[in-house]
This record gives sequence, C-alpha cells and structure tokens, in this order.
Amino acid sequence: MTQVVRGRVLGKAGFVFAELGFDAQILNLDPVMQEKDAPYILPGFIDTHVHGGGGADTMDGAEGVKKLARFHLEHGTTTLYPTTITNPWSNIIDALNGVKQVKEAAFSELPDIPGAHLEGPFISPQRLGAQPPNTLLPTTELLRELLELDITRLITLAPELEGATAAAQLLAKAGVRISIGHTKASYEEVEPFIQAVRDVGGKVGFTHLFNAMGGLSGREPGVVGAALSDIDAFAELIFDTHHVHRASFLAALAAKPDHLSLITDAIRACGMSDGQSELGGQTVFISEGQAKLADGTLAGSLLSLDQALRNAVEAGLSLRKASQLLSQTPANYMGLKDRGHLDPGKRADFLVLNQDLQLQEVYVAGRKVVG
Ligand SMILES: [Zn+2]
Repeated sequence: MTQVVRGRVLGKAGFVFAELGFDAQILNLDPVMQEKDAPYILPGFIDTHVHGGGGADTMDGAEGVKKLARFHLEHGTTTLYPTTITNPWSNIIDALNGVKQVKEAAFSELPDIPGAHLEGPFISPQRLGAQPPNTLLPTTELLRELLELDITRLITLAPELEGATAAAQLLAKAGVRISIGHTKASYEEVEPFIQAVRDVGGKVGFTHLFNAMGGLSGREPGVVGAALSDIDAFAELIFDTHHVHRASFLAALAAKPDHLSLITDAIRACGMSDGQSELGGQTVFISEGQAKLADGTLAGSLLSLDQALRNAVEAGLSLRKASQLLSQTPANYMGLKDRGHLDPGKRADFLVLNQDLQLQEVYVAGRKVVG
C-alpha cells in the first residue's frame, strides 16, 4: 500500500520540497509547493558502533540486543551493528549468538541489524581505553569460530598484534570490514597492514578516531596521521563533544569529507539517570553527560545519533552534510547499497524532524515505528 509524507526531503541532490511516496521502498519523490514550517525528512541513521542503551547491552544476549535496538530506534537509528566488548571468549560468542538470533528474527518493530561489530578482544593491552583486560591474539582457531558464526561484519583490530595481518586478510576476504583501533601501532606499522587488507579486496576503517590511539605530530604521523592521510580509508568518530574536540572533528572532516561517519559508542547507561552502571563487567560512573571508570577513563558514551546530528549542526555543518555522516557514509562503508539516501528504489528508512531537529517520526522499511 502506497503511503506519502511531505516535507523538505533530503534526496541525493540535496533538499527538495516534495511528497515522498513509499511502501517498503521509496517509490517516488514529487516536488510540491514550498510550505513554511515543513518538517525535514532525512534518511535513517546507521550506527556501526553501539554497545548499549536504555539499560541494555549487547553482552546481555538477544533480549539485551532487542532492548538497546529499540532504544536507539527511538533516537532515529534504523540500522544498527550491536557491538561487543573485550571479555572472556565464551561471553563474546554468546553475545554474537544473541545478535544473530535477533537479526534472523527480523522483528518489524526494530531497526535492521545487518550484523555485529566485534570490538576486542584482538586489541592492544596497552590501549584498552575502557575495555576490560581480557585481550587475546587472533589465532586461526578463534577466527574459524567467528567465520562459522557468520554474524561479524566489522571488527576492531590492533595491527601490531601477532597474527593481525593474516587475520585481517582472512576476515576481509569474508567481507568483514577491518577497523584499526585500540592500538599503539606506529604509522610505519599501520601502512603495510592497510595495504595487506586492500590486496585481498578489503575495506579499511579506523575505530573512534582520536580515542585509544596515538596522536598526530610533525615527525610522527601515528595512527591518526595514517587515518587522515589515506583518502580511501573510512573513520568513525564519537561526537558527543566529550571524546573529541570540535576543532579535531572539523579537521578530520576536512581530510575525509566523504569517509567520516559519526557513531554513538553508547553504553547501557545511555538514556538512564545519573549514578552507577556497568560496561564489560566493570562499574561505570555516570554524571554530567559522561560515563567514566573509577580511574576517570571515559567509558563509552551516553550519546544518541539524533543528538550527534544536532551537535554536528551546532559545530557548523549544514544539515545535509551532518546527515551524510550519519547515513550515506556509513552505508558506503558497510556496502549497504539499498539505503543511505532517500531516492526511488531505496529502503523506506527515514526520519521526520521538526525545525529544531527534534525527532517526530521514524519509519523502517516503510513501517512507522516511532511517532
Ligand atoms: Zn572502543
């Protein structure tokens, strides 16, 4: 059954006053007369890095995945990659099985879940950030288990680990995106690693750019220098205004106008009140919009993507550009050709926002799920 919404629709060519006809897909985009106070209609957000929200965490299993997915849907995320954390291996496998169950059930009232983001355990014990210290080396045995499960679509990996290059090649050949992060690698270690992934046709990204990696300086470009100087590499960034300074965000965007995406890296406590919460078995303290471990380390975020959109606009981006970082660029990175912008033939995953960029309605594959 064809339905319609009217407003300032963001198509591939920019905003148009239009009537958007859709069923599960966008059917047509017909220009209409301009209307004052017409709502904005944007493509749904895609979050490639999200641990939890609304009191639930990916590590809780299928029920947790459903709950956090529903929470983020109410903030405009229509495609989501539940993200694991470094933990004993059996906990990680259980969590991945939970993601797989929810993906396969394809609940109509949830965002689309193409797969999981495996963040840890194949990371540097010296760049844990807020990850627990249960790191592992990427052995053939563990990778075989991952590939058999066939749910991981994105992995955060530290290139300097023993076996990391072979692991990255094996996973990249299976279509998994290789995201460099939680690493103490030098620029000289990162470059051949990227080349090795590309040699087998893989796509490379960087996990929460600037966080849990070395910085950029004149003589030592480091991981940040590798990310910014490589125009084909993607990078994800937490723009909650606590993890990354506005100027660093704008510098990254200037270097990577079409390869930078915004993520939440949200944790269980996102959307909950201040006090104590949990991340990967560790106690997390929530106050003033930040989540921290007892030692003060930032522990994920309390961000939702509708707030990331408003933060990006406040930082000076046009609404069109801000939307690109939340929809089109992550779709390009993950190879989701059926979404990312609102044009005929694409999935009808879209958001209706008022003049203040507050979310009014959310549609997933043409079904109104919020509003
Ligand atoms: Zn992380």
